[in-house]
Amino acid sequence: MKKKAFLLAAAMLTSALAGCVTGTGKSGNEQYDIVIVGAGGAGLAAAAEAHENGADNVVVLEKMSFAGGSTTMAFGGMNCTNSRFMEEQNKKPEKPIDLVDRIYKNGKGFGDPRMGAVVAMETPNVIEWLEGFGSEWGKIRYNDLHCPTDGTIPGVELVRVLKEQAEKNGIEIRYNTPATEIIADEDGRVSGVKVEGPEGEYTIDTSAVILATGGFESNEEMIAEIAPGLKNIHMAPSQGNMGDGIKMAEKLGADTVNMDLIQLSSAVVPFSIQMQLPIKNNGVIFVNKEGKRFTNEYSKESSDRRISEDILKQTDAEAFAIYNEAIYSEFMAIEEKDFFDEYRMTGIDNSDMVMKADTIEELAKMMEVDAKTLVETVKNLKTDGIGNEEVIAKADTYANGPFYAVPVTPGVMDTLGGLVADTTGRVLNKDGAPIKGLYAAGEVIGNTQGSYYSVGLGEAVVFGRVSARNAIEYINDRGGLTEHVAFDRKDKEDKKEDAKGNFKDGTYTGKGKGNNGEIEVEVTVKDGNITSIEVLNQKETPNIYAGAEEKFIPSLIETQDLEADAVSGATNSCNGIRTAVKNALGLE
Ligand SMILES: Cc1cc2nc3c(=O)[nH]c(=O)nc-3n(C[C@H](O)[C@H](O)[C@H](O)COP(=O)(O)OP(=O)(O)OC[C@H]3O[C@@H](n4cnc5c(N)ncnc54)[C@H](O)[C@@H]3O)c2cc1C
Repeated sequence: MKKKAFLLAAAMLTSALAGCVTGTGKSGNEQYDIVIVGAGGAGLAAAAEAHENGADNVVVLEKMSFAGGSTTMAFGGMNCTNSRFMEEQNKKPEKPIDLVDRIYKNGKGFGDPRMGAVVAMETPNVIEWLEGFGSEWGKIRYNDLHCPTDGTIPGVELVRVLKEQAEKNGIEIRYNTPATEIIADEDGRVSGVKVEGPEGEYTIDTSAVILATGGFESNEEMIAEIAPGLKNIHMAPSQGNMGDGIKMAEKLGADTVNMDLIQLSSAVVPFSIQMQLPIKNNGVIFVNKEGKRFTNEYSKESSDRRISEDILKQTDAEAFAIYNEAIYSEFMAIEEKDFFDEYRMTGIDNSDMVMKADTIEELAKMMEVDAKTLVETVKNLKTDGIGNEEVIAKADTYANGPFYAVPVTPGVMDTLGGLVADTTGRVLNKDGAPIKGLYAAGEVIGNTQGSYYSVGLGEAVVFGRVSARNAIEYINDRGGLTEHVAFDRKDKEDKKEDAKGNFKDGTYTGKGKGNNGEIEVEVTVKDGNITSIEVLNQKETPNIYAGAEEKFIPSLIETQDLEADAVSGATNSCNGIRTAVKNALGLE
């Protein structure tokens, strides 16, 4: 405490002497005890944990204009053994070692069981921790996959509650601010971070950096270089995840592992990574744009790399999934069909991407595929030698329609390889020694899960917390935490004059086309100004849409300018909102 008070006085004196902004270190740079890079589940968990452990001189840097990363895409749930909810719901008791075993086996032995053990041991505390913030995770799928009790998508709820904590705790999430380099001193200790903010390039001095930058699932070049068979694959929508953390740490000598382990979805409907085709193993066939079948569609793992690579070899790297009414109704009637499948199927059904026709010839016309070839393909399902037993069993049902076709392509969901970390979150170099002051959390770590994303959310939250605690211990060993002095950043917003609109008073509704379909809004105009824009309906991808809702709508209201800039990374959603607002106001 004393140390904090002393440093606070020193910092104030320094800034007074320099006659400039407060909050800077000796070098004249802004200074924080901990810089967290990335505002996904891992980074936000690290921020909350740091605050609970007494560290407030902390900043979270986020490259995008919104928080969430691939965390908001996680819609399955968080594996957790022995929560009170499991007990209350009479779920089979599960020891952490059972989860460790599952992570290891799912990951085909590529994960380090010691890392898996940290996740398995800590997740019951995570569920309680989240409950302490008012976020209840009592809906359990299978035996131990925890989801928010109120039915919110798990990753979306995680980001919501942790972001709220950062706001409550006064920890700044600095958006549109990618970290570009981690700086180390001559002893190899982390001493700063270079960033590229809206104000330009600057350096933040710090004692510890927690890399929570996710994977490289949006980096087309890196994926193609590491896995040439996946060239042209549909990229994940978490557009900030370009492998920056891995690359920055590598420059400091960090070791990497499992870089070629990439979590795929072999058949997504092209606009969205979440819309994986759930009825794929039930007699569905894949045909290419020439109307020909080219692969055995069946696989136990949705992420099958063989099917993905086979689709990528086809024209435009796309295929059509075709099924008939019998297959569709049989699938929809499966009672134990998980709500997860229900959710994905409903999404696909509502996507405007499904073509339906009474005959194969008509379907071929809608697909713009040669009808004769497609008829032949469907006629020969038993004899074409491709060998999918489910298809052979259902081949006769293809005698009758209606028939459905959905365009599909493989997609990258996340990447499983990355930095080698130890069980305290420290990033290790090629000799297995920790890089002093450098920590990692979440998907950027490559040695936890192996080849399957069994515990992506758990790994993010658990290692976010573990890294924050250990970074604080490291700082305490080296002189202690300092107190934050508000940084006197020039607030451009204050300088803006109140914008005036010139619209007709009233409440109107309008529609526009977003990324995934129609967006409907209600716009209220008072005294010529747009005073509210309420989104009534939308089907956008949650983490991308978050940026549009949180930044773009307020900016339209603030500026009264319907041509205001779209939020980077959410252009289509923003433009959909823009068009809907114009449509409501009779301007489109
Ligand atoms: C479709 C899908 C479904 C999934 N379902 C599940 C599931 O059901 N259960 C489960 O456990 N896991 C699931 N996962 C995996 C899980 O979502 C991820 O493993 C986990 O959320 C990763 O969290 P993270 O915080 O490490 O990364 P992210 O949430 O991706 O956050 C990384 C953040 O860092 C930012 N960033 C990157 N570079 C920089 C930089 N240079 N400077 C500043 N910021 C930067 C990014 O913009 C991003 O906001 C799923 C993943 C996907 C894609």
